[in-house]
This record gives sequence, C-alpha cells and structure tokens, in this order.
Amino acid sequence: FTDRKGKTPRRPGQRKQCNIEKDPVGVYCRIRPLGTEDEECCIEMISSSTIQLHAPDGLKANRNGEYKETQYSFKKVFGVNTTQIELFEDVGKLLIEDLIQCKNGLLFTYGVTGSGKTYTMTGSPGEGGLLPRSLDMLFNSIGPFQTKRFVFKPDDKNGMEIQSQVDALLERQKRDSQQSVSKIPSSRQKADPEIADMISSDDACKVENVDEDSCYSVFVSYIEIYNNYIYDLLEDAPFDPIRPKPPQSKILREDQNHNMYVAGCTEIEVKSTEEAFEVFWKGQKKRRIANTQLNRESSRSHSVFTLKLVQAPLDADGDHILQDKNQVNVSQLCLVDLAGSERTNRTRAEGSRLREAGNINQSLMTLRTCMEVLRENQMCGTNKMVPYRDSKVTHLFKNYFDGEGKVRMVVCVNPKADDYEETIQVMRFAEMTQEVEVPRPVDRPICGVAAGRRHRNQAFRDELSPIPPCELVDPADDQMLPRLIEVLQRRHHTRQMIIEEFNKTANTVNSMLQQFDSQLSSKGNFLHDQQSKLSEKDKVIVSQKTEIERLEKKSKTLEYKIDILQKTTDMYEQDKRTLQHELETRDHRLHRELSDRRRIEQHMQGMVTDTRLKWEKECERRVNAKQLEMQNKLWVKDEKLKQLKAIVTESSPAQRPERPTRERDGNIAQKRSASPSPLPTPYPPASTSSSTSSSAYPSVASCISKWEQRVPVDSRSQARQPGTPQYRTQTPAPCQSTSSMGRRKGQRWAPDTEAPTTPLVYGLNLEAGTRVSVFHPIHRRSHSAGGEKWVDHKPSSNLDVDTVMQPIIPNAIKVSTPNEKALSKCHKYVLRHQELASDGEIETKLIKGNVFKTRGGGQAVQFTDIETLRQECPTAPSRKRRSGSAERPAHVKNKVIVKTMLILSCHINV
Ligand code: ADP
Ligand code: MG
Repeated sequence: FTDRKGKTPRRPGQRKQCNIEKDPVGVYCRIRPLGTEDEECCIEMISSSTIQLHAPDGLKANRNGEYKETQYSFKKVFGVNTTQIELFEDVGKLLIEDLIQCKNGLLFTYGVTGSGKTYTMTGSPGEGGLLPRSLDMLFNSIGPFQTKRFVFKPDDKNGMEIQSQVDALLERQKRDSQQSVSKIPSSRQKADPEIADMISSDDACKVENVDEDSCYSVFVSYIEIYNNYIYDLLEDAPFDPIRPKPPQSKILREDQNHNMYVAGCTEIEVKSTEEAFEVFWKGQKKRRIANTQLNRESSRSHSVFTLKLVQAPLDADGDHILQDKNQVNVSQLCLVDLAGSERTNRTRAEGSRLREAGNINQSLMTLRTCMEVLRENQMCGTNKMVPYRDSKVTHLFKNYFDGEGKVRMVVCVNPKADDYEETIQVMRFAEMTQEVEVPRPVDRPICGVAAGRRHRNQAFRDELSPIPPCELVDPADDQMLPRLIEVLQRRHHTRQMIIEEFNKTANTVNSMLQQFDSQLSSKGNFLHDQQSKLSEKDKVIVSQKTEIERLEKKSKTLEYKIDILQKTTDMYEQDKRTLQHELETRDHRLHRELSDRRRIEQHMQGMVTDTRLKWEKECERRVNAKQLEMQNKLWVKDEKLKQLKAIVTESSPAQRPERPTRERDGNIAQKRSASPSPLPTPYPPASTSSSTSSSAYPSVASCISKWEQRVPVDSRSQARQPGTPQYRTQTPAPCQSTSSMGRRKGQRWAPDTEAPTTPLVYGLNLEAGTRVSVFHPIHRRSHSAGGEKWVDHKPSSNLDVDTVMQPIIPNAIKVSTPNEKALSKCHKYVLRHQELASDGEIETKLIKGNVFKTRGGGQAVQFTDIETLRQECPTAPSRKRRSGSAERPAHVKNKVIVKTMLILSCHINV
C-alpha cells in the first residue's frame, strides 16, 4: 500500500502578491446579562454595532468626571437577550462553511473572567455554545460523505496520511475489540447530564453546497495553555490518583509548510457531534481535575479546541478515495477560550500563582502587542517583526494572522460597574484588533475528476437488472437456462442501449466540444484582436503619457519661471514702494524747508524793511541836522561877511549901508529857525545876506564880544572875529553842553522856535493834564544804559505772568499810580499795561517814555517805546511775527528767534 500525505493548504506563491485581498479581523461583542437586577450597569447597547460605556457613579465622583461616556463599535453587538443560536448564526456558521471549503478559521473569546467567554464558547446544557454548534453543523453537512474510520491517519508532522482499505479495516477491527471492553457510546446517547441537550435538533444547521464527490473525516484535538506551557487534554496517560504526575507539556513545531502545530498532540477521529463533544468533555474534565489537583486557577488558562477536517476526492468510480496525497486537503478551525484578560492584582493571587498569572497576563499582552504591530505594519506599510514567538498562544496562531484563514473574536463583557475599568481595556484591545487585516484564504483547487461521480455510478449500478440467484447443476436445465439467457439478453440489450446512449452522448459531447472549441478559437481570435487593439491603445496611451509628462515638465519649468518672475516683481515693487516713500519724505522735507525758508525770507524782508525805514529816517534826520548846521555856519559866515562889510563901509562912510533893524534881524532869525524842519527848504544864503545887509550894523567891538559869547568852544578859533548878532541873545536856552554834535544843536533850536513841523509826541502832562509839546528825542538812547532812574508804573490790576523774560529795571521806583514826586526824581517812565490778545493770551505792554520838566514846573512824559511781551502757545494756529514773546519753558521752541523778535520789538518807534 502507499501512504498518501495530506497537508494544510498553503500557497506561498500567492502570498507574495501585493494585491492579496484582506479582511479585517471580525470582532463581535457580547454583553452578558447582569448577575442581579439591581446591579449598576455601565454598558448600554445603542445600536446593533455600537455600545456605550458609562463610568459608574462612584468612579465619576472619585476621578472628578475624568471618565466620559465612550462609544465602541464592532462588526456586531449581541445584547443580553441574544440566544446561542443567534450568535452562532452570525459568528460560527461562516467559519464552518469555510472549513468545508478547505479554509482555516480561528475563533476566540476574549474578556475578563466571568464575562461569559466559556458560556459563549461551550455553553451550558440546553444552551450549547459555539463549539457544540460548530460540531453539529459540520457533521450535519458532511455526515453521509464521511470516510470510514482510519482511512486518514495523522502523521506526527501535522500532515494526514491515506491508509489503504485493508489497513483501515484492520485498525477498525482492533478498535472495535477495544471498545467492546470500554463501551464508549457512539450514538446520540446522553451519557453525561452535563453535556445533555447541548444542541437541540431544532437548531440543526447545515452547509448546503458540500462537495459530494469528496470524502471527509474529522479529527479533534484539545489543548490547554497555562503559564505558557501547552498541555494535551486528550492524552491517554493513565492518571495515578495516589501519586499524581504533573502533566507533560508539549512543544510547538513548524511543519514543512511553516504552519505551527503542537508536536505529539493527540488527534482523535470523530464521526458524530456527540462523539466529538464527548471527547471535548473528556478533555474538559481532565482540565478541571488538573486545575484542582495542581491548585491552578482555571480562569488563567487558555483552552484551544481544534476541529480538523480532512477531505479527499473520490476516485472516478466514486467508490473509494482517490489515492493521491496531493488531493488531500486539511482545514482546521480553532476554537479558543482565552484566559481572563483582567490584571493580576484583581484576583489577589499570591506566590507562584501570581507568577503564573503574570505569565498568562504576559501571553495576552503579547497578543495585544502582535495586534498592534500587525496594525502598524498594515497602516504604515512597514515590515516590523511581529513578536508571535513571545508567547505560546500567539506563536501557535501566527499562521492565521499571516493569511491562513479567517480570524474572528467574540469580546465578552459583563456590564457590571465593578468590571468597568477592565472592560475599558478590553474595548481598547477589541477596537485595535478590528483594524488588523488578515489576508483572505484562497479557494481550494478544483479536482480534475468529473463531478457527480458518487451518485452517477450508483445510479448506473441500479439501472442494470440484477441477475437472479441461480445455481446450475444440470447443463440441460431448461428452466433455469432460458431464464438466465433472457436476463442476460435483457442486460445485453440494456448495455447496448446504454452504449448507444453513451455513444450518442459522447457524440453530442464531442460535437459540443467541437462547437465549444470553435467558439473558443473564435473567442481566442476575438481576444487576440482585442489584445492587439488594446496594445495599440496602450501604445497611444504610452505616447500620450510621455507627452503629458513632457507637458507637465514644461509647465513645471514655466511655473518655476513664473515663480521667479513673481518674486522679482515683488522685489521691484517693494523697491518701488520704498523709493516712493523716500521720495515722499524728501518732498515733504523739501516742502517744509521751502516754507521755512519763505518764512525766514519774509521775516528777513520785514527786518530789512524795518532797518531800511529806520536808516532812511536816520539819514534824513542826519541830513537835516547837517543842513541846519551848514546853514548855521553859513549864517555865521554871512554874519562875519556882513560885519566885515560893515567894517569896510565904516572905513568908507560914503558907502555905509543902512543897518538893519532889530525887528528885521529877529524876523530873519525867526525865518531861519524854520530850517530844522525836516522839509528840505534850504536857506538861500545869498538872498538873506542881501536882504539883511541893509540893516544898521553895530560897532565892530560889540559885535566881536557878542560873537564870542555866542560861538561854541570848537569854533573859538574864530572868536577873535568881532561882532555877534544881537538877536542871538534871544536864544531861549543857553548852550548847556559843550558837545560839538550837530544834532544837539539842531535839537536845541526846535523848542526855541516852537516850529509846527516838529514831530509832536502826545505825552502826559502831570501839571495841567493838557496836551503839551515836548522835545522830540531824535535819537534813541540805549535802554540798557545804566544810571537812568525809572518810574515803574505797575497798575494794581496787573496779573503776574510766568514768562521767562521779565523786564528787570534796576533803580526803579515802583508805583501803582504815577505821582509827581516820583516823576520828579526820574528821567524815565514805564507803564506796564496788560490786555487780552486775540488768541486769548495775556499780552503785557511796557510803554516807555522820557520824563520832561515842563515850563510850568511840572512833569511831562513823552512815550517813546512800546515793548510787547506776549506768551504764545506753540500749537496756536498763527504766529505774530512782530510781537515779543516769552514762551513757557516747556514750550520754548526757538529761543534765538524769540530773542530776535524781542530785540526787534524793542526798536519799535511809536
Ligand atoms: P468566563 O468564562 O468569561 O469566565 P463564564 O462563561 O464562565 O465566564 O460565565 C460566568 C457565568 O455567567 C456563568 O455562570 C454563565 O452561565 C453566566 N453567563 C455568561 N454569559 C451569559 C449569558 N449570555 N447569558 C446567561 N448567562 C451567562
Ligand atoms: Mg471561562
């Protein structure tokens, strides 16, 4: 006989493809009912796929509202009222269908202890969980197509061998003999009340499209992983109750297809749901006993129940299995009841149990880490190593996550408030797991043998009329022989018919095949056509693509250029803006300077006009004075000449002219006195001399003495000249000064003659209060000249102003009302007069004047000057140029200008 080995399906070639279809890990959530009605519930199912967690009241108070309501979504959520069958239909059914379609599956329950993992996976009597229901569905589907026992035999390398019929028969006989001793029930016989009614016949599920041309066999194994050790729960080691031997742990191995398996693990071939469940229950019991004996906590172990389905096609006759190991397919479904996911401290474990618990926790942690890495690899396209090897659980199932089958997880939650914090952890793990995608297992290859052979061959066998039982003893049995002949003839006829039919069918098939062939070839041609068209189009596309690329490149360069130009433009614009700004500032400055200059110009022009006027006046005055002086001199000379003439005439009495009368002299003098008038009326000396020469002349001696009295000191050189005009004695004021300045002489003449042309100054006559004429001070004396006595008249109504420049007059007699006594002592008078200027500021005017003694013996003041002191606010709109201003120190802007103006204003002549 030949051993045929089956193997778990693995197609490494397809794995490499980058466009492998992937499915996310299907995560379901089951909420178990609360233990007691009055317990606080912290989970609410808000839709068929979403739950909401509420922080329990106590926790909310403690954490200051840190915990908010959080929602978690799953593929589906099963509420408290979900029945086991409903859950199975959603979660388990598809896995069984896949199993029969040669696809692997992994289903595990996850959650804290007491959340219903075992209830979900195993169930309770009358309410079978996923495991019994899966078994039931599987056997319901493959029941009639199962092989006889021992046709498949597991090798010790995770593969399956096909035994020859004889070997299988021998093994069956051996087993039967053993079974008759141990009397293991093999039918639907409720031996153990604990496993009774796990599945009611009403709930029977079945896969419809089972390949009937295959033979099936189911093997189960059951292991427990505790403290990172693997124990075989179906191992037939005799248990010694007196000296219990600790169970031997198993190791994980990788088969030739890189699938992980538990080496040396017992795999039991089962032929019915009951048998399979019984095996499971046997393992379960063993697990319970071991836990008790070894003082382990069952909630801390993971249990893995594996359903292995082996299938191989029937041979062409449909009678036996095709003895081809390549046609053997093995698929498996692992049902895993994981350990409680709660943290170690919750169980208050101690010592070695704490360490063990730590290890168990570690394996769940590793599961979590693996999921995280898988997710990261998928999301970021990275190729990080997934740490499957860090724990037995993840190592065992690494193939599933690498694409050997579907992975589903039922997350069990207990809505009680005590579990809230642990439940949050569970939810986070579940959410993360959902994002992991597992490559979709590929379909099994099609078997090359015609389908439907199992039934067709049977039907053919039924069709042939059976040969009646006959025993020929006599060759001349004319009863039996004709009957036999008849039967044989009928059979021959049938065979002929069948052959004919076969031929006909074969012909039809042939013609159909030919037709199909021709169709195929035409399709091929069409395909070829299309392909050539396609390649043409491809070429066009390629050329267009290159064109597009070229244009894109061009557009990119253009964009780049535009960018650069834009930048340059920006730069220039910026430059332009700065330059414009600069231009504006300069313009502004220029404007300001221009206006300044204009102002200064105006100011200067004013000054020039002032000065010119002043000097014109001065010049005029000087010219007049000079004229007067010259006239005087002329007169003197005239007089001398006359005297000389008189002398000459005296010496020749015959020609003595008539002496002029005193009245005439006086008239002449009066006439001459008009000469100081500013009007240019030059005295014609010739006519005067001619007109006066006719008067009677005094004696030479008297004339000389008179002259000597009259002539100033500087003209004493002429003093010896005899004769001084008599009318000279009428000069009202004798010469008080010896100064030779013509001006003073001119001055002297003016009051004497009381000429109306003399500029009059209306002054204050303290004696009479009437208008009096006073001397006109032709020149201005320096006000700063010391030694002058001043009357400082400051009316009591005056206000003190805080200007910087205050008039300080030394040696002044300060009065509030002017009085004669004070005036008599002084030569100068100043009145401080205040008034309100147009801009609202106080304006102080210093009205200055000279004090004169009037003829009546009183005092008169001749006002000569007004000095204006004014404060001006720098923000005031206008600025009077010709006003002396003393500004407040804080606002002083241009002291120089202020001073200049002050000086200017001091020179204002009224
Ligand atoms: P776990 O395996 O997660 O520790 P179990 O499956 O042992 O939890 O459940 C603990 C208890 O809760 C059991 O008595 C079980 O019968 C009960 N239980 C769990 N889930 C359900 C459910 N959906 N309906 C009714 N009872 C449940
Ligand atoms: Mg449990």
